[in-house]
Amino acid sequence: MHQALYRAYRPHRFEQVVGQDHAVTIFRNALRRQRLGHAYLLSGPHGVGKTSLARIVAMAANCLDPQDGEPCLTCEACLNAQLYTVEIDAASNNGVDDTRDLRERAQFVPAMGHKKVYIIDEAHALSPQSFNVLLKILEEPPEHLIFLFATTVPEKMPPTVLSRCQRINLRRHEDAEVAAQLVAVANQEGLAVAADAVEWISRKAEGSMRDGLAMLELAASYADDEVTVADARRALGSVPEEEVAALLAAVQAGSGEAILDRTAALEREGADFAQLSHDLLDEVGRRMTAAYRQGEAAAPAFWLGLCRELLTLEAGGVGSQIGRLSLESRLLAAAASAQKASAPSAAAAPVSALPIAVDTLAQLSGGRERWFDILLQGASARHQDGEVWIEFPSPGSLIRAEQEDARRLFEKGLEQILGRSVQIHFSMSKGR
Ligand SMILES: [Zn+2]
Repeated sequence: MHQALYRAYRPHRFEQVVGQDHAVTIFRNALRRQRLGHAYLLSGPHGVGKTSLARIVAMAANCLDPQDGEPCLTCEACLNAQLYTVEIDAASNNGVDDTRDLRERAQFVPAMGHKKVYIIDEAHALSPQSFNVLLKILEEPPEHLIFLFATTVPEKMPPTVLSRCQRINLRRHEDAEVAAQLVAVANQEGLAVAADAVEWISRKAEGSMRDGLAMLELAASYADDEVTVADARRALGSVPEEEVAALLAAVQAGSGEAILDRTAALEREGADFAQLSHDLLDEVGRRMTAAYRQGEAAAPAFWLGLCRELLTLEAGGVGSQIGRLSLESRLLAAAASAQKASAPSAAAAPVSALPIAVDTLAQLSGGRERWFDILLQGASARHQDGEVWIEFPSPGSLIRAEQEDARRLFEKGLEQILGRSVQIHFSMSKGR
């Protein structure tokens, strides 16, 4: 049977665990010195490897031929981990049935190995009765017993239990760690993945290795040959990035009408508005960071405002009740304040920036794209130190530019003309 990628590539030894050096060190040292505690609480976001780590600990504690704290994976104990590992998913049945006779069963040494290890997933969801049973055991734990509690919300664990656990926090993975793992898995699977697809997926995984690998797998099922960003977006129910850019341009331009047109069109195309809201937030966050880094004057405030609107929407959208109307209302609010601030987008070019002839820009499409010529009517461009400001006379042009991905066209062409990498800022021309 086909095995999910994140299951197939979960770590089996400490050395394979990615990005949790702190936790690994604690366990390996305890195992080397044969001083493993009776109860640990592994806390951290979902998909960062809590259960995988717990399984390695169980195996390492029982391995007949451990190597520097690592399980050998080949001895009889390593091959029969199910004989001494008991996994309980507290979220699925509150643990009542599983813990009812726990107290009796826990007294017996395991059929194999010398440590019986209970791995309790989503431990915070255990019933109060179950916690009481556990607490009694933890007060005087038999020598052969180890409890590994895993939870995403340690604050929901009873303090009485917490106080008897050694607490180890697993951290969210960095994008680069997820990306590296995606590349490694793709290589082993013989799967071609475009670099920007890797980047996009690892960002979307938000620090969860499991989510990243699940997304890669889903995207691969959509891909013909190489997995592209478009495949990944489709797999996740995201609209194409040009659509996101165009919608943001409409907000930036303060054009309520354009926003409503776009959301109506997106609804006709069957867009998932909750996902769209995530994608917008993701892109807005990126632009906000970029604007701050570049020290732009007006832009960060605009992106920050829009960011707040979208965060409010997400916070209120528990149960994924984000629909077209709620998203529209937030975008319109941001558009209204953009218009009021009359600084609808990136800061204008500094006075010292040199003009670029519109004729030069027009050549970038090779004269093949009619929309491109229309776009450039009344536009102007200036450049300085690798930054290029292109101003359009109307919100319509600005939105069109984003929608047709003129940004990339300008970027590529101007990089050749100016002989260096460039950053493009779109805005509306003022004072006309
Ligand atoms: Zn072994």
